[in-house]
Amino acid sequence: MRSAEKVERFLRLRFGLEDDGILAKPVPFRLADDKTGIDIEGWQTSVYHPALEALALRSRHHGLIVAPNTYLSSFAYNLIASWDYYFDGNEHWKTDPAHRLARALRLHFKKFFAEQILRRTHNLFGIAIFLETLLYEEEIMYPVLAKIAGAHFALEKASHPSKEQLQVIANWMTGLVLRHELGHVFDDEIDNFRDAVLRKLAESVEKLGKVWGEHPENSDEFLCDAFAVAMTLQHPEGCLSREEAYRLTILGFAAFAALHALDLSAHVTAKESPGKTEDPDRGNVLSSMTGASYSIGAFEKLQRDRAQAVRLLVEAMAEAGGAQVYGSEGRFQIPPTIVEDFETFLPTIVEGTDLRVRGKCEMLARALHGHQEGINYLVWRSKTYSGGAVETSD
Ligand SMILES: [Zn+2]
Repeated sequence: MRSAEKVERFLRLRFGLEDDGILAKPVPFRLADDKTGIDIEGWQTSVYHPALEALALRSRHHGLIVAPNTYLSSFAYNLIASWDYYFDGNEHWKTDPAHRLARALRLHFKKFFAEQILRRTHNLFGIAIFLETLLYEEEIMYPVLAKIAGAHFALEKASHPSKEQLQVIANWMTGLVLRHELGHVFDDEIDNFRDAVLRKLAESVEKLGKVWGEHPENSDEFLCDAFAVAMTLQHPEGCLSREEAYRLTILGFAAFAALHALDLSAHVTAKESPGKTEDPDRGNVLSSMTGASYSIGAFEKLQRDRAQAVRLLVEAMAEAGGAQVYGSEGRFQIPPTIVEDFETFLPTIVEGTDLRVRGKCEMLARALHGHQEGINYLVWRSKTYSGGAVETSD
């Protein structure tokens, strides 16, 4: 067996990834730099798994393995692709559940929430809201992905994002996660890594001293975020302006914070309403989720503050370079309140659904309750949008 295959087998065993669990083929990497004395080699791969944090680990046999989890970054990508397409400069999406941006954000947040419940327990509520996204709500994404999905939807909007422009969002999100993990590796390997990062960011970093100072026990997370931001902004993608790169970074971390909050909400919901003891009560159709209880929206202070720290850092970098983060030109326009806006939006994602749709999905959920393999198949299948005749992976 070749070394790459051994590394793959090691990761599958270590993290219980089933044979069809998505794991990219590990490739060897070496980072060497005479100036800084860095010389690190190891394996790089990526996993797609709803439960794993991005990881960098050392194995006695295989050495360093860096494996960012693209599950989180792919949800962030979908959220931001929707933002890119549907944000129209005003705040209606926050209050109008029928606004197309609200519908798109609700789809992704709710789908993530449902998947995070279902990986913990197959309760009726988790199945029903997952079905709502799959059967009735994902169509809001067809125009966003029209260029990928086929010409069928292509005339919806003149300034339609190209496949390449969408790919930039995906690369940016994966890059932020990967570089954060590399930050942890460098922090372990290089004596003066912290000083080097702080020196590089100079005055910009002073602006986030207060937020950072409130988390002495998680100081390395802030350091690695700052490193990831600085590194990612240093390698801008060709078709992004400086302003767009700044906004994309702030949006990415705002999305990560919101998704972390939903992971936490799913944890609480699954604990309070475990599926196994639940009576599927098949007679009780179209009753609008009577008895469903869920807990949603609590942000963890650490995740919120990480997103805010990144926002402050990027604002300071933009100011130093004379750039406008919150201008009204170009893509990814955002309000400075984006982190709070997502936080306020989260508790509304289960609301705003047509009650007939909800009733039908509840009925289907009761029918499918207990058929775990069938639900797992639908979750797996939902990773591929079926927009008309041409299928497209998200
Ligand atoms: Zn970390």
